[in-house]
Amino acid sequence: MKINSLGEFGLIDRIAAGVKQSPGVAIGIGDDAAATTATPGTVTLVTSDMLVERVHFDFDFCDPVVLGRKALSVNLSDVAAMGGRPRFFLLSLAIPPHFPVEAIDGFTRGLLQRAEEFGVTLVGGDTCASRGDLVISITLLGEQLPELVIRRSGARPGDLVCLTGEVGESALGLELLRRGERSGWAIDRHLDPFPRVREGLLLANAKIVSAMIDVSDGLLADLGHILKQSGVGARLGAGSIPCSDRFRDACRHAGEDPLQLSLAGGEDYELLFTIPPEAHQAAVEMLSETGAPLSVIGEVTTEEGLSVFDRNGLPYPVRFRGFDHFSPQE
Ligand code: ADP
Ligand code: MG
Repeated sequence: MKINSLGEFGLIDRIAAGVKQSPGVAIGIGDDAAATTATPGTVTLVTSDMLVERVHFDFDFCDPVVLGRKALSVNLSDVAAMGGRPRFFLLSLAIPPHFPVEAIDGFTRGLLQRAEEFGVTLVGGDTCASRGDLVISITLLGEQLPELVIRRSGARPGDLVCLTGEVGESALGLELLRRGERSGWAIDRHLDPFPRVREGLLLANAKIVSAMIDVSDGLLADLGHILKQSGVGARLGAGSIPCSDRFRDACRHAGEDPLQLSLAGGEDYELLFTIPPEAHQAAVEMLSETGAPLSVIGEVTTEEGLSVFDRNGLPYPVRFRGFDHFSPQE
């Protein structure tokens, strides 16, 4: 079945049918606007992310269910990076008229499955026709007490630069997809990321983090955002950047430099944050609750700028600093 035989309102009804009731939603899908209830004392965190066919994903290698999960996950990751609790979201779709309904059904299933996992509710959106590709836009609302919200701008000289999990795997997965591979753990990391919402909340509640961001554009690029907004610099130790045996082996096999992928590859959706050294032990213990590995990869410095040093203390040349939609890529 094609979308044009279902019609706009048939499609909205089909999406709405999968949405579970939630106590915070006074008015959900079906009116001119939704009405939601905020937890008293909190501020609302609002974030939006677009996924465009052939820019962010390709149906040649992307299952609609997995795409649905990813579409919400990238937004969840942004609320996680603020230390917030995600609550409600809006879904806007521009769909080519001949698009198969089954693909939208799969997308919605994956999306609402991830929504349930994180206790967030779809409360509305917009649906229109596209003359070309599928465009997906999600706006997610989260909340947190104002004093617990973690910004990019709070890093201080002497703070440790910390990272959850590993970065670079998603970029390796993307490269393997480009070469024609269709499955494997690195490809899963790229297509099906899992946002660090629990970790973000634990860190926010503990009040030990001075600045935080999620790694979407690449480790150096995203650390660069923290440094710029905090007016500080950092030194990273190349040897401290986590690199599992399986990642190293897969990079060798693919002829890729694991360190370059870790520094510049995007879309890992790990949390990158700074903490005063005395809070390190508390952070380790806290994150052990969720099973997220924590690595200290560097130190914040008074001098602005970002430098990477190898195991011998020599400057490590950085080829490429991350993803920018409007920059010519290598
Ligand atoms: P309006 O014309 O007043 O903007 P619409 O006819 O676009 O309203 O939408 C009707 C209802 O369906 C609204 O509650 C809107 O939020 C919801 N809606 C529209 N598209 C979507 C979508 N893709 N996902 C979820 N809800 C949607
Ligand atoms: Mg209206």
